[in-house]
Amino acid sequence: MHFYMPVRVFDERDCVLRHAKDIARLGKKALIVTGKSSSRKNGSLDDVMAALEAEHVEHLLFSEVEENPSTETVLRARDLFSDSGIDLVIGVGGGSALDAAKAVALVLKHPGADLSYLYDATKDASALPVVCVPTTCGTGSEVTGVSVLTRHDKRTKISMVHKIFPVLALVDGKYLKNAPAELIVNTSVDALAHLYESVLNAKADDYTRMTASAGLRCWAKTKEILTKERTASQEDLDLLMRSSLLAGMSIAQSGTSLPHALSYALTYDLALPHGKAVGIFLPAFLKAAPEAERDELLQLAGFSGLAEFAAFIGGLFGGTEVPEEERRRTFEMVAGNAAKMKSASFPVDEKVLETIAFG
Ligand code: NAP
Ligand code: ZN
Repeated sequence: MHFYMPVRVFDERDCVLRHAKDIARLGKKALIVTGKSSSRKNGSLDDVMAALEAEHVEHLLFSEVEENPSTETVLRARDLFSDSGIDLVIGVGGGSALDAAKAVALVLKHPGADLSYLYDATKDASALPVVCVPTTCGTGSEVTGVSVLTRHDKRTKISMVHKIFPVLALVDGKYLKNAPAELIVNTSVDALAHLYESVLNAKADDYTRMTASAGLRCWAKTKEILTKERTASQEDLDLLMRSSLLAGMSIAQSGTSLPHALSYALTYDLALPHGKAVGIFLPAFLKAAPEAERDELLQLAGFSGLAEFAAFIGGLFGGTEVPEEERRRTFEMVAGNAAKMKSASFPVDEKVLETIAFG
């Protein structure tokens, strides 16, 4: 068994400001990699700038990261900043900004790096140090080495082959305070998918189960926020972030499985948010899993069984239509990917995959 979690995590109120010195220790000139606007509104960008200014760390801003960031965006940052003397990259935002930050940290370390570098496992995977400040509660990218990038040339999303773990993750639920309910729903279902896919995974072991069980217990306490049965307290926002972080620690060990594999083409073709695209396949994935393990996992997240879980997901995403030909396209892509077909903890042949892809 093997457990690798090289990220120093602070999960506490105002941790960006409180750990300014820890950031400053990592570099003298930082590139902040973020999305177009949300980090300006939720206070995360102000906190990062204040921390850098307090410690006299020079900084530049790249705020062009789109949702489901593309390799083109990563290479644009390389073109803009490769001569700027950047020695530290700070990702601020949702998974898109954090994933982009990791890839940017790689290409800035290797200025001639092009698209093929991102997907060539024989290349040097060293990168500039990365700090991550998450502002959504789904991807856990702040504690994974993964960077999922859109490949327009292939009409889907493909993770970079190099694993770039952040050095420091600064996690503060306050950045979720004014996040739209839909964003909380989508990203929190993504976290749940990570928790389930990491355990129902061919690579799962006792360590994965340890982080996933802790994550599921946190997640269970926030379920009623998603169904709007109550509004989120500050403690709930912290728990949402923590579930996502623990889920990230789980997939950092095992990777994801079939719902994620099936989701990527859907996100590309239908512009569905990542968590929603994954969540659509989650009930059928659990249905295909061995009953005893599935029921135990459902109970950890506060569900009495599969029927209640399917109704819960249906209530969140019920109106989302996925055309038959789209399900066919994604089914065929995954059926043709031997590694993905072997990613679950239980045997999956084309018949089983069909039950998951077509619901
Ligand atoms: P996201 O794509 O990062 O952000 C979605 C939207 O939410 C953006 O419009 C963003 O605005 C906005 N936003 C972010 N934080 C906000 C806040 N606190 N309040 C209000 N709006 C906010 O969403 P995500 O679900 O977190 O990330 C999805 C990406 O992560 C996908 O590409 C997925 O494949 C990837 N992913 C990575 C991993 C991993 O291990 N690395 C795991 C799962 C998924 P701005 O654009 O203005 O910032
Ligand atoms: Zn995900």
